[in-house]
Amino acid sequence: MDLIITNTAIITGDGTTLHPTGQIGIANGQIAAISVGQEQLSMPGIPMLDAGGATSFPGVINGHAHGCIHGPAMPSGSKPLLPSDVSYFRNRHLLGGTTTLLNVCGLSLPHEVDGGRQASHPLRIFVTTAHTAHSVSAALDLDGSGLGQRHLTATVEEAIESGAVALGEGGGGQTLGGGAQDYRFLPQAILKTTDILIEARDARRLKELLLGRTLKDPTFPLDTQFIALCDELGRLRRSTAETVAKTIAGSVMKPVRNALLGLAELAEASARTGLTAILHNAVPSAEHILGLARAMPSARLIAAHCNHPSFTPEEAVVTARLLRDAGVLIDVSTLDCISTHWRNTAENLDALISEGLVDTLSTDFAGGHWDGILEAVHRMIVSGQLSAPKAVALATGNVASVFGAFHNAGRLEVGKRADITIADSLNVSRVRHVIIGGRPVVQDGVIISTAQHNDPVHRKPELPV
Ligand SMILES: [Zn+2]
Repeated sequence: MDLIITNTAIITGDGTTLHPTGQIGIANGQIAAISVGQEQLSMPGIPMLDAGGATSFPGVINGHAHGCIHGPAMPSGSKPLLPSDVSYFRNRHLLGGTTTLLNVCGLSLPHEVDGGRQASHPLRIFVTTAHTAHSVSAALDLDGSGLGQRHLTATVEEAIESGAVALGEGGGGQTLGGGAQDYRFLPQAILKTTDILIEARDARRLKELLLGRTLKDPTFPLDTQFIALCDELGRLRRSTAETVAKTIAGSVMKPVRNALLGLAELAEASARTGLTAILHNAVPSAEHILGLARAMPSARLIAAHCNHPSFTPEEAVVTARLLRDAGVLIDVSTLDCISTHWRNTAENLDALISEGLVDTLSTDFAGGHWDGILEAVHRMIVSGQLSAPKAVALATGNVASVFGAFHNAGRLEVGKRADITIADSLNVSRVRHVIIGGRPVVQDGVIISTAQHNDPVHRKPELPV
């Protein structure tokens, strides 16, 4: 035995088991023994970690994150994030109890996790692929400034060969006319054609008036309400309403058409390869995803962030139920809805949880303002929505079984990977220690190791140019 955790409660990640007191023995990066109650594993000479009554549970697996790799960012294939941003996001995930993370900016390539940099990190980072013709076209319609020749020509099969473990994200807030249009691309495009800078919430109001919530092509002559809103925004004068309308339609609709075709390509790729495909679920894509699930029952689909703010709570529930009945897995994301409350509230999340419709819990990105997974888990526990084992399973055991890709992580059981988060028993978002592959990497709330884990996943050959 290499390490024994003593004086700890244990939540195993199976959705039901909580041992109020126990010990965990670790050997060779795996869980070698678990004792519950008074039985002692301790043996002379073996290092001990006294958890002081805190709770041990499987390291969190975040199945939908962005911004943690050095390749092209987001389904829009945008320029890579600054290295300092990447390390900040990785540190936040790790200090928040996450040990395994799936970065779903699907147009990057597996060898770009670290992008040839020395900056290794103990967080286990896996990547997806969305290298299909129309997913790439949607990115280029909108941005694509981070894409090089290799990203444009790579295939899903090549990316899987070099280490991608899932498919997606198909579509995104950028390419499917969502939040990133409101706070970034639409204000930019309108500024370019009218010389007027508008705010995100006004961009959204204009977009919804012009294209509707499901994003249909605009009709001319323009709706009087749209013209009135241009008027109301003051600096956008009536005479420019048509220009504004054409600008909005141009920015939003072309990538939407391609992104929807990209979703179908990724569902087909899932049926072909057996890998899980993560599809951006929001009002403009929900019906499309449902159609794909019904047409391709052998595709393994995850509807991402089913609590997306484009839905009302009732719509989120009805949509998730229809999707689940069609065999689609239901993911919810913290976004910024737990404590930040920038563009999201927890209403949709609460509605889906209380209807028992959620399979997995992730963060997504929320413009970098994402709230922690364990903040959401703590909230579910203290509000009485879910038992602690059930809430923890949404971000551990459930994610592992949905993807089947994370090398034995996700459960605290003998023979599983020793990826363990130890947190305050009264508030699991207060993470004290994190162990990855049997090695302590966070101790008393501080990252103590920058060394990369020794999984084979990042050691695969680069894709040929
Ligand atoms: Zn998304």
